[in-house]
Amino acid sequence: MTHENDKTVATVPPGGTIGILGGGQLGRMIALSAARLGINAHIYCPDPNSPAFDVTPRKTVAAYDDLAALSDFAGAVDVVTFEFENVPAETAEFLSARTCLRPNALSLAVAQDRLREKTFFRDRAIATAPFADVSSETDLLEAVDAIGTPAILKTRRLGYDGKGQRRIETRQQAADAWQALKRQPCILEGLVNFTSEVSLVLARGVNGETAFYDLAENRHENHILRRSVVPAGLASDCTRRAREIGETLLADLDYIGVLAIEFFVVETRSGSDIPSQKLLVNEIAPRVHNSGHWTEAACPTSQFEQHVRAICGWPLGSSERYFDVRMSNLLGAEADGWADVAAQADCIPHLYGKSETRDGRKMGHITQILRNGVDIVERN
Ligand code: AMP
Repeated sequence: MTHENDKTVATVPPGGTIGILGGGQLGRMIALSAARLGINAHIYCPDPNSPAFDVTPRKTVAAYDDLAALSDFAGAVDVVTFEFENVPAETAEFLSARTCLRPNALSLAVAQDRLREKTFFRDRAIATAPFADVSSETDLLEAVDAIGTPAILKTRRLGYDGKGQRRIETRQQAADAWQALKRQPCILEGLVNFTSEVSLVLARGVNGETAFYDLAENRHENHILRRSVVPAGLASDCTRRAREIGETLLADLDYIGVLAIEFFVVETRSGSDIPSQKLLVNEIAPRVHNSGHWTEAACPTSQFEQHVRAICGWPLGSSERYFDVRMSNLLGAEADGWADVAAQADCIPHLYGKSETRDGRKMGHITQILRNGVDIVERN
């Protein structure tokens, strides 16, 4: 295993080049932040129409298993990072052997596999929804008996935005769910009756320095992030626990770069009947995250710049927040209203330059400054 904090990789200075696997909006925003620090970005993506290609002349259009192209890419950059967690393990290993991959292959491997991820949490006494390994229909029935219903069957790999998931309301629905997910290795998770969903975006630099952004409260629609409001309005012991969990994960993954952790907030009642909040980790993303887009409008150092700083061995920047914010995604045709958005005071638009509009496709986002703070309307 490569140890990323052994300082064997020199700092990438201005004029150096970072390589980014993936050419979506996250890669584009990382590249834009790199440019502000005088650092070049080289995007590697199989899709020639990738939005990140528009912001840098350095590009490779090739498959993730094209070893010749990967080898040239590794030779052209000082450090490699990625904007999506489903980078094939072989690609990560191939690049790790030739250049410095940040975050490391271990972080990718843990985040790519829901069973490995949940087990990683459990081994560290980090609370999650109850879960069980499911490799056959018999396993599934046993898991349903142990966990109960309702529950959610999720493929171990390649699920995102609700894809690769089936809700199971009764034991009788188990066989159908197993067929629907094509009998792939899965986990069964108990359904969490959460009061809200929050996320923590945090970073670790090469010297083990860490930075935390304020927690965001996230609202999803059709499994896609609709909006994030900051601050999340959690009790201070919950915020402390979220940071503790973050510290543990960063250290144990030997992590370099920006990491996002998604949590369910559940209300528990003790004997005294006074409700208190508890956090369950849902999943981690070893990359910059949609729920951290507000940082570009509200913090001295955005999550994108923080990621570039971390992977380039720079000191981390301030993650202080200037004001309360609400970030809303512009999905599909919503981005056609760009002129109205641009005319609104206290609304900071960011459009991704995607040529094709599709229903539910993330076309941009807006960050609204809430000068009077967050009220109940903003949270809904
Ligand atoms: P995931 O792909 O695991 O992040 O799931 C996407 C969304 O589905 C989450 O943000 C939740 O809103 C919901 N969800 C996932 N797992 C659970 C669970 N165990 N209990 C309740 N809701 C869940």
